[in-house]
Amino acid sequence: MHTSDTLELSLELLRQPSITPVDHNCQNIMADRLAKIGFAIEPMRFEDVDNLWARRGTTEPVFCFAGHTDVVPTGNLEAWNTAPFVPEIRDGKLYGRGSADMKTALAAMIVATERFVAKHPDHKGSIAYLITSDEEGPAKNGTVKVIETLEQREEKIKWCLVGEPSSTHRLGDIVKNGRRGSLNAVLTVQGKQGHVAYPHLANNPIHQAAPALAELSSTIWDHGNEYFPATSFQISNIHAGTGATNIIPGTLDVTFNFRFSTEVTADELKLRVNEILERHGLTFSIDWNLSGLPFITPVGDLVHATQKAIQDVCHIETELSTSGGTSDGRFIAPTGAEVIELGVLNASIHQINEHVNVDDLEPLAEIYENILINLLAS
Ligand code: ZN
Repeated sequence: MHTSDTLELSLELLRQPSITPVDHNCQNIMADRLAKIGFAIEPMRFEDVDNLWARRGTTEPVFCFAGHTDVVPTGNLEAWNTAPFVPEIRDGKLYGRGSADMKTALAAMIVATERFVAKHPDHKGSIAYLITSDEEGPAKNGTVKVIETLEQREEKIKWCLVGEPSSTHRLGDIVKNGRRGSLNAVLTVQGKQGHVAYPHLANNPIHQAAPALAELSSTIWDHGNEYFPATSFQISNIHAGTGATNIIPGTLDVTFNFRFSTEVTADELKLRVNEILERHGLTFSIDWNLSGLPFITPVGDLVHATQKAIQDVCHIETELSTSGGTSDGRFIAPTGAEVIELGVLNASIHQINEHVNVDDLEPLAEIYENILINLLAS
């Protein structure tokens, strides 16, 4: 078993039990390394969330690495083969909570930055880090607040690399250059409770809603475009009834979500849903929650620099994709920054026995370093 700088730092970060919003000591470990190579360190704590803004250089353009030190809860500890915060290598895989999402990417970028700065101490522009401990949780006091602070002082990010695990089958095969929007709704359909033997005295909200839900689930909302797949509608929860066999329920609750492309807006989706529910004669209320707008980074400097870096290190053509869940890129893209996501394989994220291929760690550091070279080498 050979060791490497990226592996060493990964192990140190993985030993920190940093379940959202707790950073434990991760950001200090990173900040210490960055301070040694000339970064100005600025902790930004908002309520119970630790964030780190670090910048090397004062000029533009600003290249920023964005990521998070927090991890999702471990789940059933009994189900883990080894303790989630005692990282262990077995059969070429590094196990531990946060190994894929995304502490190894944090380690790879720190190592890449150290190597780049050693070779290019007078690089162009600035290198920055935007690190939060609240990506996996409510995401109210993390990246969004740091971005607000930067916007207030007109500090602009031109290129943003998010270290989320984007790879699917092998390192670097997929890079995310945008994300779909996400719109949640909680629908309550009003009926009238009664005895199942006397339906004429009641009004069954399940029967009322069923045809409307069928129409919602079969509607084509758009056809997508060159960057986005078609908008999708999914019901995630549905509930009515008391559990008794002889009671017609009084209300029906449905939770659903849209993952939407740039071919529709959230307001259009709301209008179309309302129109369908009204046409079916339902009495209803609906609570909407827009959790992210869609964004896209067209092919340009950052995409080219990333594609070339992956080609040079992994010898594969990478594929641009907008699939997957939301990420903190949604808060950074609206400032006008080019945003892409590139990290390790995502097959085991948020799962029991989360792991990463040890052999992917040094190549990831090399890819990250090459991106810096392609954009900022002096
Ligand atoms: Zn993540």
